Amino acid sequence: MFLFLVVISLLLIDGAVCELDEEDDDTQFALLYLRHYHYLSPETSSNTNTTEAIENFQKFFGLTVTGELDDDTMYEMKKPRCGDPDVDTDGLRLKRYATVGRQWSNTTLTYSFSPGADMKNKDQLRIIARAFKYWSDAAPKLTFTRTNNFNKSDIRISFGKLTHSGVPGERQCPYDFDGQGGVIAHAYYPTEGRIHFDDDEHYTEFGGSVVGWWWNKRQTRGLLYTAVHEIGHALGLKHSDVKDAVMWPLAKNGNPKLDQDDIDGIISLYG
Ligand SMILES: [Zn+2]
Ligand SMILES: [Zn+2]
Repeated sequence: MFLFLVVISLLLIDGAVCELDEEDDDTQFALLYLRHYHYLSPETSSNTNTTEAIENFQKFFGLTVTGELDDDTMYEMKKPRCGDPDVDTDGLRLKRYATVGRQWSNTTLTYSFSPGADMKNKDQLRIIARAFKYWSDAAPKLTFTRTNNFNKSDIRISFGKLTHSGVPGERQCPYDFDGQGGVIAHAYYPTEGRIHFDDDEHYTEFGGSVVGWWWNKRQTRGLLYTAVHEIGHALGLKHSDVKDAVMWPLAKNGNPKLDQDDIDGIISLYG
């Protein structure tokens, strides 16, 4: 009987410890997330209050505002997404596009492309050209021409894993990728012009679940959708809290369609 009680109490203690560990991991993850996306950042959003940071995250993502790391909040934070921040020096902007306050003075832009491992180069080049066309259709002053001169191009697109650099000859990027899931790509605002895709992700043109000849089933990211989003950053757009906008921060697949919010944003910069 005594032994039985000891076993039961050990199991209980063990269970409690597991739950606590999981909560600690979630809290650590959430704090890093809130800092990374500038919800919690004295330098950028001037916010140092964790509850306020959680509330702002919940407002941005249209969740119930509780100020606590509840299940819905943790679930949303763990979705794959773009690595660029949601909040910046001008604080949290809700219900419309946001721009970074910097843009290209020249609207005749060049880009270079160093392809990833998942698709034929010519297919990737076609997809990237199509992604640029979304923005030049919305703001006709913009034109984009591909060049093989990596160092002289305005926008430089490349793939890399973990600590990555960029197109050949470029310096190391200070924002490491995190393996599969989490951050899938990120981009620099004008006039830096770097766009990086996480090569630990699998990319297809439209993303989604794909069955291959030598693997059972894998989740892929939409290269077209992600490219349209990241090019938006490279042109000066920040994240929008409008869920249907291409500039919404979470990863999306399929055929992109610019929302009026995206169009208003790009017109405000290059109309
Ligand atoms: Zn983004
Ligand atoms: Zn990078």
